[in-house]
Amino acid sequence: MLEGKVILVTGGSQGIGAYLVEDLYRAGAFVYFIGRDESKLKSLTEGLKDIKSSGNIKYFVCDVVDALRVDEVVAEIVKERGRIDVLVNNAGITMDNILLRMKDEEWDRVINVNLKGVFIATKAVLKTMIKQRYGRIINISSVVASMGNAGQANYCASKAGIEGFTRSVAREVASRNITVNAVAPGYIETPMTEKLSEEIKKSMLSMIPLNRFGHSRDVSEAVKFLASDSAAYITGQVLHVNGGMYM
Ligand code: NDP
Repeated sequence: MLEGKVILVTGGSQGIGAYLVEDLYRAGAFVYFIGRDESKLKSLTEGLKDIKSSGNIKYFVCDVVDALRVDEVVAEIVKERGRIDVLVNNAGITMDNILLRMKDEEWDRVINVNLKGVFIATKAVLKTMIKQRYGRIINISSVVASMGNAGQANYCASKAGIEGFTRSVAREVASRNITVNAVAPGYIETPMTEKLSEEIKKSMLSMIPLNRFGHSRDVSEAVKFLASDSAAYITGQVLHVNGGMYM
């Protein structure tokens, strides 16, 4: 159902984003993705070139907090394809610390990348989506936006912010046939979670009724659903993908 759709994924060079890029490309979409590390973006692109698809993939080196560069990327996509159908705001970072030890830089950087980045990229695509009277914006939040997590006050605040942002923008643009939703993954096995200690992983697993960690595929399926016509009447929602960790 996503064949021919023009899709921009932020943070597409590894983890959930990289899986999404491949999955959407396999589905026949024209997938554009951004990240900061060109070698990772390039090697992902190279690795996908033998896959048969009616779509296309292209990367841009771009930091989501650089509004001018994000605008340039969006302008380039619109110049190439004449439209932009879907934005997946996936780029995100963690800089964990208990609050009393958290440095201003740790707070500012996480809020900037995770929350301001969503504001910047959403604003950049919205004019085109409003003009074309069609759009799907999908923001990647986290289960910890609802649960909280000790040592992640900055990250949890950024993700809870994304969910409020999602509902507000959904109300602003619904009349233009643009939906805005969030996907809140639980514990997904990616480079972001790989760095956690075995002890934390074990305690996380004990909190998951489905008794397994999530795969990027689980998140990708939810994103593809929200991007598809099947989800045309769903907006302002948070879809939890967490194996029952939070319900
Ligand atoms: P990874 O750390 O594996 O990947 C993060 C991606 O974001 C990379 O491609 C990175 O690329 C990119 N990125 C980071 N900072 C920027 C920036 N300033 N500008 C552009 N791109 C950037 O994370 P995951 O795949 O695990 O996470 C993806 C999303 O899912 C995040 O928003 C995360 O918060 C969320 N999430 C993840 C969960 C998990 O368990 N893994 C659980 C819940 C939510 P580069 O370094 O090249 O810039």
